[in-house]
Amino acid sequence: MVAKAAAPISAKAARKLAAETPLGLKRRVRRMARLLAEAHPDAHCELNHSNPLELSVATILSAQSTDKLVNEVTPKLFARYRTAADYAGADRAELEDLLRPTGFFRNKTDSLIKLGQALVERFDGEVPKRIEYLVTLPGIGRKTANVILGNAFGVPGITVDTHFQRLVHRWRWTDETDPVKIESVVGQLVARRDWTMLSHRVIFHGRRVCHARKPACGACTLARDCPSYGVGPTDPAVAAGLLKGPRVAELAELAELAGAPVP
Ligand code: SF4
Repeated sequence: MVAKAAAPISAKAARKLAAETPLGLKRRVRRMARLLAEAHPDAHCELNHSNPLELSVATILSAQSTDKLVNEVTPKLFARYRTAADYAGADRAELEDLLRPTGFFRNKTDSLIKLGQALVERFDGEVPKRIEYLVTLPGIGRKTANVILGNAFGVPGITVDTHFQRLVHRWRWTDETDPVKIESVVGQLVARRDWTMLSHRVIFHGRRVCHARKPACGACTLARDCPSYGVGPTDPAVAAGLLKGPRVAELAELAELAGAPVP
């Protein structure tokens, strides 16, 4: 998927960015990463799983779906299909029926059966722990591979999904639009050990604060460091109404403490 380039920013923000050195950018990114950690202490992988195979399956099912829908389907699925061999030998009609609520269920059924077969044939039925092997598996692209590495194996990985792309563009961490290049640029700006958690926090920020259509700029703790401050409402009362999720009050309070950018 190719991301859109970032929306225009104010002349003042553009001047500030033009004067930003590579070291200045790195410092700003790390400051923002710390603020994100403070704002989203509950950030985590929202796909329920208890082993690498379950996470691989859940991540494949999450394409064009929501984590909530996937989590509704997986308890029954995981109870019925416990090993790669179970997926390899699955009855297509039965599996399709289980996956139907997640959408694109025929393609997903196909991917899961092929995934099971590939794991049995090439990896002894185990999900491999290396990205170069993971991306050779049916239904698993680089984004999915990084989710699996980071959350099932504890190997740091950056997950460049649509939220991540939108936010790093708004923040002008990079102008790259190719997810692999974005991953590489951000990977150099942030310590490797922080990659997985940063991915979760950025995605949480995208879901709860920095929405695609109406970002809650006036209730955003990153406002001082964000070149796109002002693309959404800056009035704190209006912006607070745009916040989503279970931590609305805490997010609004953190933003108030951080203060708005100096005009
Ligand atoms: S200030 Fe606005 S554009 Fe910037 S991160 Fe916050 S909500 Fe998003």
